[in-house]
Amino acid sequence: MTTNATSTAPGTRLRLDPTKCSGHGLCAELLGEHIALDEWGYPIIAERDIPAPLLADARRAVTDCPALALRLEGAARR
Ligand code: SF4
Repeated sequence: MTTNATSTAPGTRLRLDPTKCSGHGLCAELLGEHIALDEWGYPIIAERDIPAPLLADARRAVTDCPALALRLEGAARR
């Protein structure tokens, strides 16, 4: 997805529960602008507010995570 990510959803961040994550890497495919993978395929989530144009993709990453390891935290999580 190509975006002009100049604005953010203030206070909205993506959080990972590493005890649940099984390293599928799907989240990084859905939200590559905000999630990288480490050398073992586990996500590294950017420690910054989610750019507003990426909120829909962030919600999809949360709902599509097969391990339910992701959640949105903050004002725009719904
Ligand atoms: S999709 Fe879920 S289980 Fe897979 S790497 Fe991302 S957070 Fe972990």
